[in-house]
Amino acid sequence: MRKPIIVGNWKMNKTPAEALEFMKGIEEVLTGEENADYGVGAPFVDLDVCVKNAKHLIIGAQNCNEKDAGAFTGEISVPMLKEVGVTCCIIGHSERRTYYAETNEACALKAKRLLADDIVPILCIGETEAEYDQGLTDNVIRTQLEGSLAGLTAEEVAKMVIAYEPIWAIGTGKSATKEIAENCCRLVRETVKDLYDENTAEAVRIQYGGSVKPDNIAEYMACEDIDGALIGGASLKVDSFKEIIDATK
Ligand code: 13P
Repeated sequence: MRKPIIVGNWKMNKTPAEALEFMKGIEEVLTGEENADYGVGAPFVDLDVCVKNAKHLIIGAQNCNEKDAGAFTGEISVPMLKEVGVTCCIIGHSERRTYYAETNEACALKAKRLLADDIVPILCIGETEAEYDQGLTDNVIRTQLEGSLAGLTAEEVAKMVIAYEPIWAIGTGKSATKEIAENCCRLVRETVKDLYDENTAEAVRIQYGGSVKPDNIAEYMACEDIDGALIGGASLKVDSFKEIIDATK
């Protein structure tokens, strides 16, 4: 049985003081008895305050470098994240792929390094609107998974979270229908089965992301192959994140 995992991706939002306010507001309503894991992917400078104020929320970073240390100005290593206490890390988000040239190869190295320190990679994949219109979604999912999971063992992949986020649904308010989201998440699972085996495919948790809101999350969560959500805009306000928790716990 896969435990659902719902993670807010704050992107480049919230100062440490704002992060603290959010943490207090959300921890107030969580008991740890919920049927799902809830978490946030916070900017690096917010991680310490988030970890120190987390009782039930899972705290994640939004990126990491695959190397442990060295002359890589502006980068953050996995040992740094580990020491701060984060337990998951978003990799390969479409914004990082588009604006910072994050490749599938880099994702594979980052995932391997994170898993070595027991930090759960949340690997993002998803097609553009043009690719969707041309019926290329299957190819894109397969290529991204093949590249981003290269060198990972079945055991490692089973511990990961894969977030299917169609780029055309991110920040647009144009969420995928539950049928599209479910079909694509199933395709992700089938591809993992093809690349690895049935047990790995059954174990890996798959999220849908793209304009998920309090009023549509329940229908995604009711789909068999959707094990959670990665949420941008609607994760920023305490009230809307509380509504998301209410709709899913
Ligand atoms: P929105 O929920 O704002 O569409 O963002 C989705 C996303 O990119 C989560 O990683």
